[in-house]
Amino acid sequence: MSAAARTLARMSTTGTDSPADTADGGGPAPDSRGVSLSPSRAADFMQCPLLYRFRVIDKLPEKPSAAATRGTVVHSVLERLFDIPRGERTPQAAQGLVRPAWDELLAKRPELAELFDDGEGGVRADELAEWLTGAEQLVERYFTLEDPNLLEPARRELYVETTLDGGLTLRGYVDRLDVAPTGDLRVVDYKTGRAPSERFEDKALFQMKFYALVLWRQHGRLPRRLQLVYLGSGNILRYDPDESDLLAVERKLRALWTAIQTATRTGEWRPNRTRLCGWCDHQSLCPEFGGTPPVYPLPVIGPQMDTDVTDAL
Ligand code: SF4
Repeated sequence: MSAAARTLARMSTTGTDSPADTADGGGPAPDSRGVSLSPSRAADFMQCPLLYRFRVIDKLPEKPSAAATRGTVVHSVLERLFDIPRGERTPQAAQGLVRPAWDELLAKRPELAELFDDGEGGVRADELAEWLTGAEQLVERYFTLEDPNLLEPARRELYVETTLDGGLTLRGYVDRLDVAPTGDLRVVDYKTGRAPSERFEDKALFQMKFYALVLWRQHGRLPRRLQLVYLGSGNILRYDPDESDLLAVERKLRALWTAIQTATRTGEWRPNRTRLCGWCDHQSLCPEFGGTPPVYPLPVIGPQMDTDVTDAL
């Protein structure tokens, strides 16, 4: 059996839950006192502990966003693109998947209709057409970055999960996993936004190192390459991790989890005001903007949150 086949055989034992079942897929958040962490929720806590509370503990609803929804449609198209036989994976074929992907998403999540609702029971057809064209352009740009006819992904939308010593479960969905004939793993994630400046590359790579750590712990093989495909700006960010990178991410996640557990116990969720607050749906409930959070729904026990822990994150 080849190295690639052995790797695939091991991976075939991995569960493949629906993305809608995880916080990563935009679906329900994990249990408020649960023991699992996804890259999205870890990033939430690092950005703003109060935002994490609003999303994970209070489970407050958020307005659908046209940009995020377009991202979901484009991801769906790039996943299905590889169902088309090699040699027939053209920009036109891929663009032809955009409208069906939107229709299917809308059928699953009818609340998304409000994105193009004209307020009188109709649809703002021009805006919808422009939005779909934007999705088609992102799909077309993908072909300037990779030739999907030269690729045969080992897995798409792969659910990955591992439990660290101490009980913390790390989980998430990998957009695409490629396995070379040598058995080397390449983890690929699509982004519909623009590539970050060099200053923010580490932050962008955190999610990829998270996945690499999970795959390493799950299968005993360190991914050779992490690849972020930015369709908004037409760039690829590549990184080859080593063990020390992933051990550092593991230490960071353990510290993060300690801070989350402390905040859960004490009810102390500190707001962290940054320019990203402009995208937060919960300003009206945030003390930084004169709001008052809802009553904390969990029992409060133990001392006040050790702010040194969160400051260190
Ligand atoms: S508005 Fe800013 S500080 Fe307040 S909860 Fe949202 S992200 Fe946090």
